[in-house]
Amino acid sequence: MKERLQKIKDEAIAKINLADSLDKLNEIRVNILGKKGELTEVLKGMKDVLPEDRPVIGQLVNDTRNAIETILDDMKNKLAAAAREKQLKEEVIDVTLPAKKSVIGHKHPNAICLDELERIFIGMGYEVVEGPEVEYDYYNFEALNIPANHPAKDEQDTFYINNEIVLRTQTSPVQVREMEKGKLPIRMIAPGRVFRSDEVDATHSPCFNQVEGLVIDKNITFADLKGTLAQFAKELFGEDTKVKFRPHHFPFTEPSAEMDVTCFKCNGKGCRMCKGEGWIEILGCGMVHPNVLRMSNIDPEEYSGFAFGVGLERITLLKYEIDDMRLLYENDIRFLKQF
Ligand SMILES: [Zn+2]
Repeated sequence: MKERLQKIKDEAIAKINLADSLDKLNEIRVNILGKKGELTEVLKGMKDVLPEDRPVIGQLVNDTRNAIETILDDMKNKLAAAAREKQLKEEVIDVTLPAKKSVIGHKHPNAICLDELERIFIGMGYEVVEGPEVEYDYYNFEALNIPANHPAKDEQDTFYINNEIVLRTQTSPVQVREMEKGKLPIRMIAPGRVFRSDEVDATHSPCFNQVEGLVIDKNITFADLKGTLAQFAKELFGEDTKVKFRPHHFPFTEPSAEMDVTCFKCNGKGCRMCKGEGWIEILGCGMVHPNVLRMSNIDPEEYSGFAFGVGLERITLLKYEIDDMRLLYENDIRFLKQF
């Protein structure tokens, strides 16, 4: 038994001294001290040893085990130090090299324009209000005086979730929700995404952004509408900007108009930007239809108001002289970096 232990110890030392990696060293440890290791086998054979010899042999096994563990630990430290040394030599770090710059993003041109629009209207005392993009048919159409047979309600133009729920085609439902609260007067703009079943081309997208405005108070007239939107145009496109109103039809306003602004490139002389017209169409507007007021429990005999809606992308494209709406959605960093 004594000789067997001595042999295990000698062989272990020889193997340990030959180990050249931590993995190999671990393998040696398992082979000798592991559950099925050589030394463990010896311990299992203790039952065959005479009882009076057991304390001595037991002590001897323990001494052998301790001796091997000590040598293993020494070797492990040596190998670990060598591995670290090697790693440090291989991975030379040049501390004088410039650090990697983190790339900082910036606002999308649409967001820059929206900030500008909000700034202008907040400056005039408006509140910015948001509402759901998935909306009841009632808020999107009916409460806005759009009858059931109106072409806008066609499945060709609108994404229906079911008979009662649609992806809003305009941000006007936000205005209805605000009117329903019954807190008057109202001065608000409602920016947000809207959805229409359009094919993608240079001027259309199934998802785009609108900014709609609503004012309701006593004695609001078309003069207020005109004054407000003229001031808005001046702040957005420059002090010299003039506005022009052309009669139009919307179900939710009466009378309704489309507003043009003088071309900010040529000041109305006519250029490529305005296709020689001198004017650029910018938004739709009108006096809130009495039916719309009534449906939200506002008395049209006491209150009146005006509303307007502008396509955010339209403003962004004009402001930055971009000729294709698709560029705003393609997330091409080379394009977006320019703003
Ligand atoms: Zn022009």
